[in-house]
Amino acid sequence: MRLYNSLTKRVEEFIPIEEGRVSMYTCGPTVYHFAHIGNLRSYICEDVLEKLLRFSGLDVKRVMNITDVGHLSSDADTGEDKMLKGAKREHKTVMEIARYYTDAFFSDCAKLNIKTPDVVEPATNCIPEFIHMIEGLLEKGYAYKAGENIYFDTSRLKEYYVFGNQNEDELMVGVRDDVTEDTNKRNKNDFVLWFTKSKFEDQALKWESPWGVGYPGWHIECSCISMKHLGERLDLHCGGIDNMFPHHTNEIAQSESFIGHKWCNYWFHVHHLNDETGKMSKSKGEFLTVSLLEKKGYDPLVYRLFVLQSHYRKPLTFSFETLDQTAATYKKLKSRIAAVADEGNVDEAALKEWHDKFVQAVGDDCNTAMGLTLLYDVLKSELNGATKRGIIEDYDRVLSLDLLKEDEEEAVDDELRAYVEARIEERAEAKKAKDFARADAIRDELASKGIMIKDTREGVVWSRA
Ligand SMILES: [Zn+2]
Repeated sequence: MRLYNSLTKRVEEFIPIEEGRVSMYTCGPTVYHFAHIGNLRSYICEDVLEKLLRFSGLDVKRVMNITDVGHLSSDADTGEDKMLKGAKREHKTVMEIARYYTDAFFSDCAKLNIKTPDVVEPATNCIPEFIHMIEGLLEKGYAYKAGENIYFDTSRLKEYYVFGNQNEDELMVGVRDDVTEDTNKRNKNDFVLWFTKSKFEDQALKWESPWGVGYPGWHIECSCISMKHLGERLDLHCGGIDNMFPHHTNEIAQSESFIGHKWCNYWFHVHHLNDETGKMSKSKGEFLTVSLLEKKGYDPLVYRLFVLQSHYRKPLTFSFETLDQTAATYKKLKSRIAAVADEGNVDEAALKEWHDKFVQAVGDDCNTAMGLTLLYDVLKSELNGATKRGIIEDYDRVLSLDLLKEDEEEAVDDELRAYVEARIEERAEAKKAKDFARADAIRDELASKGIMIKDTREGVVWSRA
């Protein structure tokens, strides 16, 4: 397996710390609203990566947090608390909002065939762990108290900008018209570890801490939840590219200051989904969710295919026009696969050979488009039907496009069609034999099942009522 590592900015051989095992961490959603399909692009690509690691024979333990406290509207700890904003919008409690949108997130994931990580941990479950790490950072002199809050002191680090390419303009996160600068910070990019003096009187979730009643900042949760389940040395950390700064930069700062050594070896970042006007976000234009796609008649797996057709490190532009093309591609692909008869014996050697081809091709920096190309190569090959189906089933463990699953509606229709046509045939026989009572009984039987038949000059036609 080769992977692009955001830390070194190179495609590298992926070598886990412990042979054969991978510890993988994913930043989870802030559950204050539905996930938009741009966020879900990251989760689809991370899902492929996890499945690909397993496909190549590695044992993966994957952990994801659920942010249900502490994430303010700017990632730089300013602005309104997102959870509180969601609660006010819907006249619910913060915990009701968290539960509702956590369920909605996993329901979207299920529709997109995204596997649930091995461990899913809400931030509010881990307050003692946060307090423990913050105490350690204070003891070691990496944190300070100001204006009753606890901040991380970025000036204590030799290298804070570990991902390198941030320039001063990009660092101006949080400097927006509706957001005021936090004057307690000693350095512009210092960040909050624990809020005690909340400027939000109605902050719903608060806990006792050595510094008074308060709540954690956003960044601390990922460091603590990751270490709680995966230990102090992590193989792989994933997220959307907009998490790189400040969130992942801050995670590394606090984690490595706390443990005193390198924390995570590989960083995997998925690029943005844009619409034709630019970056897609919740605040702009039509709020694109999985439910909206469904309402417009798209199978969510068409969106998964749309994502897999391009590389995760390239920005992807969404439009309904391109999604329509993908829907047509998906339909054609599925019917080509459905037409492959399950004939012959599975050629085990070929199965292994094509499995290895997939690992080689897709394992080169998660090249999902190459995986799809291989799928067409299988269909075009001279292999027998049973072997083809075996390989497709194998590939679908990573692609997760339900490639061998027959369209339920079509399957029902086939069955129905066969039944109706048999009855029509029988009715014609009855009429021929002048058994009109029998012919009428058949018509009534069909009508009772919602099938209308009509005698026309071209023969009998039928329709569903
Ligand atoms: Zn995170």
